[in-house]
Amino acid sequence: MKTIMTWFEKWEIEKTVFRLMLKGVIVLAFIMAGFDWLFYSSTLAFLELSFACVSSALLYFTLNNTLRYNFSARTFILAMALPVSWNLLYNESPIESTVLFIFLPIITGILRPVKEVLLFSMLFGGSFLYITMLGIGEVNFTYMEVFKLVSTQVLISFFVIIYVQMNRRYQKVIMKQSKALQDANINLERLYKEKEAEASTDSLTGLKNRAALMTQLEYLYARYKRQKEVFSLIIMDIDKFKYVNDNYGHQKGDEVLQNIAGITLECIREVDTSARYGGEEFVILLPQTNRISAMHIAERIRESIEYNIVIEGRHITSSFGVVEIEEEYTITDLIKKADDALYKAKGTGRNKVVCAQEE
Ligand code: GH3
Ligand code: MG
Ligand code: MG
Repeated sequence: MKTIMTWFEKWEIEKTVFRLMLKGVIVLAFIMAGFDWLFYSSTLAFLELSFACVSSALLYFTLNNTLRYNFSARTFILAMALPVSWNLLYNESPIESTVLFIFLPIITGILRPVKEVLLFSMLFGGSFLYITMLGIGEVNFTYMEVFKLVSTQVLISFFVIIYVQMNRRYQKVIMKQSKALQDANINLERLYKEKEAEASTDSLTGLKNRAALMTQLEYLYARYKRQKEVFSLIIMDIDKFKYVNDNYGHQKGDEVLQNIAGITLECIREVDTSARYGGEEFVILLPQTNRISAMHIAERIRESIEYNIVIEGRHITSSFGVVEIEEEYTITDLIKKADDALYKAKGTGRNKVVCAQEE
């Protein structure tokens, strides 16, 4: 039942047609009511006026979304049947009765699904046959005329229904295809983002790789040149790492690299960047940070590594070179200065932080 209801709810094109139809019919019904009032029958004018008012209310509440399309469309069809039936009964003009009567199922065929069209046809067709065959209407149709009228109506309704159903099928196909396209686009976008992240990530540690580091470094450098926004760089190298590999295996070495990467991330801010620069070397970029603060951060990382990374009672340590950007430095100079400081740290006993700008 629920699927049938949602299926009806999806009659988007029909809803648009319905609104257009209401607008046209309201204007027409008011004009006809005026003419009938002046020149023909006040009863018919009253019926047409009621129909126009009901249609206006339907239009208003449908646009408001207060009324559901199903209810609104059915009410519209039934309201239109009133002046049409009155015409059959009391209007002596066979043309008017015939035209209006053929009009009704066509509109039903456009607005409602096939099953409902059959139901309405039985109702309207039955009353038409009843009125004409028993000769209680104002117009006396011959059997031949009734036959022709009914067959014309069936034929026209048939084509309208076929046309509407075909449209609905195309609508469904288009909806399905656009949904598939949308899904494919979402997938592509996700894939692109994954690949993009992959391309800038070091697979062992999950940190940024050297390429991504250089991009960020260039960005910070450009900002410094433009806005004098200072930043610092830390280069870090694990002490005697070869010893770890040689004595505990490469696997253990990898594990140490991963743990150290985790420690660097814990010690820095969200805006900072920690990257794997080479084998067991890491670089950390610290935006809006001078060398004093950078030294503190490096010291914090050094302590944390020494305290936390222990293999069979042996504490793993690391050495650090720190540098703050200065006016005359190029990017290469900056890295070179940090490297020199690191070299100095290694040369003077390891497990320490050395600043390039320390005199
Ligand atoms: P130092 O204190 O002078 O830095 O000594 P060190 O032994 O750390 O110096 P060296 O640069 O000679 O050795 C670095 C070692 O790091 C050599 C290499 O096998 C190891 N290494 C580099 N990349 C990886 C890796 O991805 N995994 C593992 N397990 N080891 C690596
Ligand atoms: Mg080393
Ligand atoms: Mg090294």
